[in-house]
Amino acid sequence: MARKLKGIAAARGIAIAPVVHFHPTLEHIPTWKVPEEAIDAERSRLSNAVATVAAGLMALQQELAGAIGKSEARIYDAQMALLQDPQFRRDVEAEVRAQRVNLEVALQRVVARYEGVFAAMENPAMRERAADLRDIGRQLVGALMAQARQKYTANGADYLFAAEEFLPSDAGLLDRAHIRGIVTAHGGKYSHGAILARSLGIPAVVGVDQVMLESNTGTMAIIDGDAGVVLLDPTAEEMREYERRAREQRAVDRRIAEVRFQPSVTRDGVAVQLYANVEGVRDLDSLEIEATAGIGLFRTEFAFMERRQFPTEDEQVAMYRRAMDGAKGRPVTFRTLDVGGDKPLGYFRMPDERNPVLGWRGIRLCLDWPDILYSQLRAILRASALGHARILLPMVSSRSEVARCRDVVDQLVADLRATGVAYDPRVELGVMVEVPVLVPVLPEVLPLADFVSVGTNDLVQYLLAVDRDNQRVAKMYDPFHPGVLRVLQQIAQASRHAGKPASVCGEIAGDQWFTPLLVGLGFRELSMAPVFLPRVKLMLRSMTVAECEDLAGRALAMHSTSAVRKLVLDELQPRWLAQLGGEEPQR
Ligand code: PEP
Ligand code: MG
Repeated sequence: MARKLKGIAAARGIAIAPVVHFHPTLEHIPTWKVPEEAIDAERSRLSNAVATVAAGLMALQQELAGAIGKSEARIYDAQMALLQDPQFRRDVEAEVRAQRVNLEVALQRVVARYEGVFAAMENPAMRERAADLRDIGRQLVGALMAQARQKYTANGADYLFAAEEFLPSDAGLLDRAHIRGIVTAHGGKYSHGAILARSLGIPAVVGVDQVMLESNTGTMAIIDGDAGVVLLDPTAEEMREYERRAREQRAVDRRIAEVRFQPSVTRDGVAVQLYANVEGVRDLDSLEIEATAGIGLFRTEFAFMERRQFPTEDEQVAMYRRAMDGAKGRPVTFRTLDVGGDKPLGYFRMPDERNPVLGWRGIRLCLDWPDILYSQLRAILRASALGHARILLPMVSSRSEVARCRDVVDQLVADLRATGVAYDPRVELGVMVEVPVLVPVLPEVLPLADFVSVGTNDLVQYLLAVDRDNQRVAKMYDPFHPGVLRVLQQIAQASRHAGKPASVCGEIAGDQWFTPLLVGLGFRELSMAPVFLPRVKLMLRSMTVAECEDLAGRALAMHSTSAVRKLVLDELQPRWLAQLGGEEPQR
């Protein structure tokens, strides 16, 4: 029986190999009392250790220079700055002198104190520095103990590196000829380890149960870096399925290189704009914006969720401006705060709700707390002066909610104009269609909106009355349901009738099996996690609009979800494989 561990998708791709768990090398630190006359000797030991670690860092940076980008290589500059920080050094020496402890112990204590300070900082990037500091401390103690550090190898066999965390210095210890994937208990999508894994092209999942990792050393496993899942001891069938996906991924990668900058058009030349979904400005750093039509969904709540208090208006302006800069003139669709439901905000007291997904979330919450809404909308408007900004309202369920938001925007615009603050008067206001009842009233809502974006993740969950996080019913969460397709068609038709652009920004927009259906139903804008964009473009370029319409028409007439799924896969799989260079179908 396979064991499925859920984590955070940190670096895309599939890796299959045995898990090898590595412990930190320095588990037992020697402790002794330092007499007065030995204090100077401890100081010179510190100088030697700093010099050794600095030389190691420089060598590592040079060794990796070809394999990682310039900005990632700067991670080691940040470590070097910490290592040579005079205050850090003074604090370590003071600890030795005051407590009469050996340097190894003093280092550990000072590193722990600094870590506490970093961990309490507002700025998430600064909080990540705690890992750098831990790494520096570990290297210094390692140098002091003259402990020859072993390369992380599995004796020449392929392996999945498993550890509590993956630190920048670990990159130099990996046996890169044989490492297939990385799985760790700590770290986030934006930790330095995750950034390095991405730029080294090693699939990675972080935030996985530590005990399971440790107790499964030597077990065969599959890392799915797209889904953030680790399968321990997979069945033969799962192995075949993931090997097939890995082969397909390699074929897709080859083709991706060819289509990346080709126009996103159907085979008969009809343009379908492909946008990217992002969860923060840092996603933009690794995004090839030129290969997209712009940002179709900026989930602003993630920036709010990783802080310890609400960002001020000015802080938000700075963040939104960075996003506008990163988009280089392309549209950026800022979705206003969508907290509540499965996205709590630590510093904002939410009521205990029996059904949070049906509760106080998205625009409902913001309209009840106008301060939050006002400062966010004002910040977006101020940032809009830099390019093409769009505002998107989540969880709208009535015309009056849109009307109230429109009024707020108008008021804010009048105020900015009166006070001479720059903004773009063409800022658009859009509505997410994710609460089913909005669909029949779209003809009344659309005149108030400049565009709509269909949030199929929520829309499908509400239409089917299936909580996708509930294991018992998760199988019933299937967007191929003919009823879902009919609702999507209704949305596309209402928008076209009102002359308002409609996009899809839920997960199905990034699922290539859905691309022809969505085009056939009438959508000409899709927004997805960037990793899926090339696949969708490949599929798009293989079909004419007439073929998409024909397929959608037949799917709409089906009587069951399984019939739609079968129709779509039977039609599309052979084409898809042909697109990938005519490989034999592997089912
Ligand atoms: C959606 O519901 O489809 C959507 C895009 O929003 P989120 O997934 O953030 O709820
Ligand atoms: Mg949603």
